[in-house]
Parts: sequence; C-alpha cells; structure tokens
Amino acid sequence: MNCELCGKKVGKPKRVKVEGSVLQVCEQCASYGKEVLEKKKTDTQERINKIKKGRSRSSRGFGDESKTLVMDFPDKIRKARLENDWTQEELANNLNEKKSVVAKLERSDMRPSDSLREKLEKTLDIILLEEIEKISTSTQHKESGLTIGDLIKEE
Ligand SMILES: [Zn+2]
Repeated sequence: MNCELCGKKVGKPKRVKVEGSVLQVCEQCASYGKEVLEKKKTDTQERINKIKKGRSRSSRGFGDESKTLVMDFPDKIRKARLENDWTQEELANNLNEKKSVVAKLERSDMRPSDSLREKLEKTLDIILLEEIEKISTSTQHKESGLTIGDLIKEE
C-alpha cells in the first residue's frame, strides 16, 4: 500500500484526517494530520462516561423523591426516646446534638435534616421515612384525572 500523501510504499499506513478528509499515510506524513482511530476512541469513552454519570445521578434523585418524612415524626421520636428511658438531654447526647434540637423536633417546631434524620433512625431504631404514594394517593388520582381530561379536550 502506498502513502496517499507522498506515494511512498508503507506496510502499516496510518489513518489520519487532513483538512477534513481521512487519508492512509506513512509515518512521516501522519504528522500533517490528526490520527483518526484515537480520536474516535476518546469520543466514545467520553460519551459512555457521561451516560454512566447521568444514570447514577438520576437513580439517586428518584430514590430521594419517592420517600418523605412521616407526618408524626415528633411522636415517633418521643415514644422511641421514652422506650429507651432517655431524657431529651440524653437523646441529644447520643445524637451529638443540643438538647434544644430534640425539644424542637418533639414539639414539631423543626424538621430534621437528612443527616439528622438518619442519626435519629439509627439511634432510636425507628423509621422516619414513608413512600410518597401512601400519603398522597388521592391527590395523585385527582391530578392524573385532570391531565387525561385536558388531553382529550385538546384532541
Ligand atoms: Zn507519506
């Protein structure tokens, strides 16, 4: 096979892109263009990485959205604390939080952050999350009914 640029005989031509067209050239002429194979590989790898990143991000997001804090978390926290025979202060110490934080939670003056909720669940052996579907079934029915109605009207 001959180099498509200089016409010299080459055993192993390189595929390079020179001014927009792909040519099979010798080692020397390869420096005039960009090697094609390598560039393609990089593009594919980048695309795969992007897909992987997107997937893990969206699946994590969905997990968070499908669950919500239970409405009666103040009761759950207080009951679990009393079962352990702890004062608010003792629970706060176990959580590494201030006593006022526990008091606020039990008075429903404050919603726990994700990290605090996880600490409460571990320390008190309770679950403070529930599936959104359980509590908002009626709302969702209403919403989907409206959507279908709107679609029919538009058609
Ligand atoms: Zn050449």
